[in-house]
Amino acid sequence: MNGTIFDIQRFSLHDGAGIRTTVFFKGCPLRCRWCHNPESQSFAPERMIYFDKCVSCGKCREICANAFDAACAACGKCVKVCAGAARRIAGRTAAVDEIIETVVRDKAFYETSGGGLTLSGGEPLAQPEFCLALLKAAKEANIHTAIETCGFAKPEIIEAVLPFTDLFLFDIKGIDGETHIRNTGVSNDLILANAKRLMDSKANVLFRMPYIPNYNDHEIGAVRAFTEGFPLEVMPYHAIASGKYKALQRPFATAAVTPPSQEEIQRLAEEFGMIYSPSGI
Ligand code: SF4
Ligand code: SF4
Repeated sequence: MNGTIFDIQRFSLHDGAGIRTTVFFKGCPLRCRWCHNPESQSFAPERMIYFDKCVSCGKCREICANAFDAACAACGKCVKVCAGAARRIAGRTAAVDEIIETVVRDKAFYETSGGGLTLSGGEPLAQPEFCLALLKAAKEANIHTAIETCGFAKPEIIEAVLPFTDLFLFDIKGIDGETHIRNTGVSNDLILANAKRLMDSKANVLFRMPYIPNYNDHEIGAVRAFTEGFPLEVMPYHAIASGKYKALQRPFATAAVTPPSQEEIQRLAEEFGMIYSPSGI
């Protein structure tokens, strides 16, 4: 069983409890205007160019007429010749066996820290068979499993992964339907219905709200009310993804947003009974 991923990060500390290995799936059905992993959005591999590293050697142009334009086929040939190491391809095919082999290497760390495997992205549930196969393989190896999800998936997919998922890190980006469409490109009807489904099934869910000034900050009370009885983490906006947008040659819609201060987030976290995530989004 193969899927498309763009990274495997060992020794992750922000994707669930303890020390974890995070597998980043390629492809997401949402287009959040503040997305901090823009290379995760497309389901296909993509070329990234870090212009600050380019030493103008011209080797990419020698081998490819599309070295700097949008007609790139993401073949990766220019990556091999780039003298500045300024190029990479985000996204590759990976097999379940290969990933699990990497994941089990750190089993001793998971056991001592309460960690495990986290599937992230992108949206893991958008590659449902691959996602399910990874979860099952991890459980067979006795490894704790978590999924970071935007919740935009058919109910039957949620039901299928439920028995193999120890923790859902479930993003709620807003409650108002029209605002949600404006901010993410999709309706939140399915997302909220899936969140309710998990709450009713008594799954282990940590809700998370990206907090983006001028985009969804006014919805913090509504999100807290919707998730009542479950832990809710607030993830403040930061702009560190701007380099990735440049590398993908795409505009960053929220580049001009001023990140909220630590004091503001701490105050909100206290006021609304939320967990404060300094790592942010
Ligand atoms: S990845 Fe391939 S198609 Fe794209 S710019 Fe590089 S050599 Fe050209
Ligand atoms: S190969 Fe790399 S360093 Fe050379 S011109 Fe192209 S991007 Fe710049």
